[in-house]
Amino acid sequence: MEIAPGVRRIGDRGIINSYLIEETGEVTIVDAGVSGLYRDLPQELASMGRSISDVRALVLTHGHSDHVGFAERLRTERRIPVSVHEADAALARGEVPNPAKGYGPTKIGPLLGFMWFTALHGGLRTRHIGEVSTFGDGATLDVPGSPRVVLTPGHTPGSAVLHFSSHNVLLVGDAIATYAVTTGARGPRIAPFTADPKRALESLARIETIDVEVVLPGHGDPWKGGAQEAVRLARAAAAAV
Ligand SMILES: [Zn+2]
Repeated sequence: MEIAPGVRRIGDRGIINSYLIEETGEVTIVDAGVSGLYRDLPQELASMGRSISDVRALVLTHGHSDHVGFAERLRTERRIPVSVHEADAALARGEVPNPAKGYGPTKIGPLLGFMWFTALHGGLRTRHIGEVSTFGDGATLDVPGSPRVVLTPGHTPGSAVLHFSSHNVLLVGDAIATYAVTTGARGPRIAPFTADPKRALESLARIETIDVEVVLPGHGDPWKGGAQEAVRLARAAAAAV
């Protein structure tokens, strides 16, 4: 699905998202969803006139399994380098357990829908990443689109958002979701499965100051009303719980 010129999403229903960012014929993938999304990759690349040989890098917003998805396959079969913030490297390699505690509030329909989607797309057998390079807060990554990294800990210790100012998009991973997979609630909010919700809320201040129109979450549809408004609504949603 095209979101903006040079920006596409894999993951047709917006439950679990992976994004393609193209710059001068080269592509960066942000997040690898669940492994089954790999089968949508060739078609999505073809829609932007590209193929898998144009993919230069995979960057992860954090180390959760529903974002690591097909990373190891890309790395081993295509020799595409994978990177993540240094504080989430061990999680991405499967060396430490998921720091998230419990589900939070749930509604059975949406939760079953998420689990069913995950199971159907191979999310129950995610391969951990054998080798991952790391970046720090404030880095500008040497990958197509040259995103700037802003660390936003809370969902996981190494959760980071990626600002592609060239494309006027901010990829937030699960620092902000626009769809809560556990309740079906829509609109900007702190994502479920967050390890440290208080810290995640504090990290919103780091997103608020980014001047960008389109916010692309790991779960849910694009938010096109600007980062500042997304943060305002995420705070309001948290206060309403
Ligand atoms: Zn997620």
